[in-house]
Order: sequence, then C-alpha cells, then structure tokens
Amino acid sequence: MERTCFNTELSEKNVGQEVCLVGWVSKKRNLGSIVFIDLRDRSGIIQITVNEGVTIPDVRNEYVIQVKGKVSLKEKANPNLKTGMIEIIASEVNVINTAKTTPLIIADETDALEDTRLKYRYLDLRRPIMQKYMDVRHTIKMAVHEYLSKEHFIEVETPILTLSTPEGARDYLVPSRVHHGKFYALPQSPQIFKQLLMIGGFERYYQIARCFRDEDLRADRQPDFTQIDIETSFLDQNQFLTMMEGLIKEIFARTINYEVKLPLRRLTYKEAMDNYGSDKPDTRFDIKLHDVKAIFAKSEFGGFKDVETIKAIVVPGVSASTSRKVIDELTLEAKKFGLGGLSVIKVENNEFSGSFVKFLSEDEKAALRSDLAIKDNDLLIIAAGKYNRVCPLLGALRLRYGRELGLIKPGTFDLLWVVDFPLFERDVENGQITSTHHPFTRPRDEDLKYLDSDPTKILSYAYDIVINGYEAGGGSLRIYNQDVQKKIFQVLGLSDEDIKRKFGFFVDAFQYGTPPHAGMAFGLDRLTMILGGTDNIRDVIAFPKNLNAVCPMSGAPNIVDQAQLDDLGIAVTDWEK
Ligand code: ASP
Repeated sequence: MERTCFNTELSEKNVGQEVCLVGWVSKKRNLGSIVFIDLRDRSGIIQITVNEGVTIPDVRNEYVIQVKGKVSLKEKANPNLKTGMIEIIASEVNVINTAKTTPLIIADETDALEDTRLKYRYLDLRRPIMQKYMDVRHTIKMAVHEYLSKEHFIEVETPILTLSTPEGARDYLVPSRVHHGKFYALPQSPQIFKQLLMIGGFERYYQIARCFRDEDLRADRQPDFTQIDIETSFLDQNQFLTMMEGLIKEIFARTINYEVKLPLRRLTYKEAMDNYGSDKPDTRFDIKLHDVKAIFAKSEFGGFKDVETIKAIVVPGVSASTSRKVIDELTLEAKKFGLGGLSVIKVENNEFSGSFVKFLSEDEKAALRSDLAIKDNDLLIIAAGKYNRVCPLLGALRLRYGRELGLIKPGTFDLLWVVDFPLFERDVENGQITSTHHPFTRPRDEDLKYLDSDPTKILSYAYDIVINGYEAGGGSLRIYNQDVQKKIFQVLGLSDEDIKRKFGFFVDAFQYGTPPHAGMAFGLDRLTMILGGTDNIRDVIAFPKNLNAVCPMSGAPNIVDQAQLDDLGIAVTDWEK
C-alpha cells in the first residue's frame, strides 16, 4: 500500500479507515506491552499505537518509517495535537531508513546554539516552527504572484552577473575569466533593469528578486536577501501607494488572516523624526518626542545655550526604579549618538528631583508640567544639540523603554507610510553628499530650485512602508527628465566620465521616450519575520549566513584551487589569518 495522505489530513471523520503513513519518528515511548510513536511528516504529528502482539522493528528518533494501520478514536484526546482526537492502531511498521542520533533536538523548543543549528540546518529545518516560517514565506509569495498578476504585472528576471547598482552598499564582485581584470557585480537590487523595463514598454513589472549587499550584518540583515521588486509606469504617487496597500492587505489576509485597515496613515519624514526620532517609527506605544526648546529659551544651563534642538521624552512610571547605574547607561547611550550627555529629571512625590533640578527655574518647571502632562513617578529625559543627533538618540531611548516596559501589545500591527524624505544626506564624517535612497529618486517639483543653492533642502517623492518599526519596503517616483538626472549626478560629485562608465547605457536609454515611472521593493525576509513572529532574519531564510557572513554548513566562503585563481588572473596578496 502507498502513502494514503498527510498525517494531519486525518480526523475523527476517518475513524475505521485503513491508512498508510510515512514520516520521521519524533518520539517513541515503550511501555512494554504497548509502544507509542509520534510520527511526524510535513503537515504535523500523529500518534501511532502498537499494541501487544504486533511485532515491529527497532525504531529510534528520526528514523524514516512507514506505518500501516487503522484510524481509531483516542480514549483521551491530546489537546496539543491537531490530530489529538485520533490515533493509528498499527498493523505494520517498516523502517525506510535509519538515522544517527541528531546533534540537535527536533522540536520548537531547542537549546542548540545558533551555529549548531546553521551547521545542521537540514535538521533545524525539520523543526515545526521553521517549517511554519517557510510556509509563511511561500504564502506571501503566492499572494504577490496572484495579486500583481491580477493587476496586469508580469514577472521578469534580471541579470545576477551585472554592473554595480547604486544602492549605497558595497558590491559583491565576480571576476571575469574571459576578461582578466574586469569584474561583474552582483546586483544590490534590480533597480536599473526595472527602470529599463519601463522604457522597454512593460508598464508593470515585478520580480521576487535576489539582491546582494556586502554590509556588516545585524539581526535583520543578510548578505544575500530577497526583495519583492516592483516598477510601474504612468501612476502618480497616490495611485501607486494605493495599489501597494492593496498588496499588503492581501498578504496580511492570506498569511495571518489579519485585516489591514486602508488607507494607511502617512507621516512625513519630518513628522516621523520630530515625534518619534526615527524614519521607521514604531507607533504602537505612546511615548513621543516633545520640542522643549522654547521652554528653555532663557535657561542659564550651559548645555542648552545656542543649541539647534532641545527635546524631551517622558517615560511613564519609572522614576523610582531609575538607579544611578541606569542614568549612567543613558548617558553612555547619548555619547554613542555624538552628544555630550543628557539631562534626567525624576518626579518623586510629585516633585522634580535629581542633580539637574538646580538648573530649572520655577517657570520652566511649570511649563514642563503643563506642556508634557507629567505625572508622579514619570522620568523626564532631555537631550540638547544637533537635530540629527538629538532625535535619533531619543528615538532609540523611547524604543528601549517601549520594549522594556512592555508597552507594545503582542500580536498588534502598526503599518504606515513615511513620505517626503530628503533627497540627499550629508555624511556626518566626511561632509559628502549622498542619495538618501538612490540617485534615480525624483526630487519634488517645488524643491528643484534648491538644486544649485542648497541641495540638502530638497525633499523627494520617496516613500517607505514601516511595519512595527521595521522598514518593510521603500521606493520612489523616478526621474524621467534627462537634464534633472544629469544634474543629480553632478551634485553627487560624479564626473562625466564616471557617469558614462557607470550609467552610460542607462542615461542613453532615457533619450528614447521614457514614461513617468515609480516603484518600490518590499523586503521579503523582513515581511516574513514580521508575519511569522520572529526578530531573527536567519529564521526565515532556509540557508542563511551567520553574523560573520559565513555559512557554517557549507563553509562558504572558502579558498579555491590555485588553478581557478590562475584562470581568473588573480593573485591573493592578503590571506585571512
Ligand atoms: N531599489 C530600491 C531598493 O532596493 C527600491 C526601489 O526604489 O524600488 O531599496
């Protein structure tokens, strides 16, 4: 008899049926006369009961077995299993393959170190939770294919071996064997190609695209990752965002059966920074940044004199638990953000206290109380200095407290657009101007006048979608006017020669009837994290790299044969120790 079905397709309705199941031994309990086996297949676990008189071969955990038997109602249901109402009374158990003792336990709860999990990833992937993450990922992709196909998009693949694309990260390079000394770059995104597809007349393109960026890794970053990459022609910003909201709604409905209310809220970049100190604000909890510069207009405190910005956050109910050590930590955090320090005021027995209070006048105290609605036991944190430092610092602190104090309700989702980003940003270290998104982002028409005089003042038609404080995607309207594009390249300090070498073909293409176009990319990995409920990007990628950009399973990256290097005309001069 061949396998009749997946384990969890069986229920009380099948009682009495003869079935044949296959899968892995998840657990075995031998009670002498009777043996229980938890049989696991991709769908889940079912209990096999082997009664006295039925002889079975030796089976151990993770053996692959075939079981023949009859579906029967359990005397006492197991509420932890989907199939908990039933069991299979085995008539025959056959071993299809044996297994060594596994180096990690195949269960959701595991104490295995992450490097062990990555080294034996094929076993880690057997854990039901990992299968669930992969399932969420697949469901998102299916929603994307179906929703976008219905909206007349087509999927087009773009090259992996290509030229550098300007997303601002370091490229992964691939040496050419045929052309010594020349390199392909792996795409940081399909940006240039998708815009060329608009010039190519496709009007609506998408691709579940692999992208590569050689960046230092963090919990939510991988060197190779996947984007849902989208480009459209002839839509204005509002039409485009509305279409993307439809996609997000579909994805949430399909994966977690959650109804996203549309339209999504839109915050300008300035509002996001002003109020939340972040361009990807988590607005699921209410701590906000307050501008208190006016309150301190006459302050005698040196740190508040002649500064660009003075802002404060009020953290509810933590004064009493804020020790000297915590205040030192907060100060250290301020230093990390390039500020000299910060001012911390406690509210104890309805009185302001702490070493900073001596600098406060009665008027200032009264103004703080009334403007910030301060309550007993609140903690007031004030930072002063450059806007670009004060806001991110307080943004990070509000987030830390939001998490620490459990102000974020689990299972809630907070979706919004951040719009009107600055077109350029100035590197704090070297003062150089770079694109906030990429150099093809269209400046707002009304700001074009600053292109020569003060480019950092220019805002752009760029937007990010933020979900629970993650940047889940971003994009922009694109420049389709050649002169503006040239000008942007110039502001970025690219010489005519650079432009020709890096983007010559792209700039040329714009001469042949370029439609107005707009697009964005969603991070598939991040979306899967958010919808799957994990904050580790490696959980949602089948074979990820660790934080050192190494795959502990395959050992990549690795040395290669000298003959391969010779073929490529490459000599390694600086071997890793
Ligand atoms: N290419 C951009 C990115 O990878 C997204 C876009 O502008 O469409 O972030």
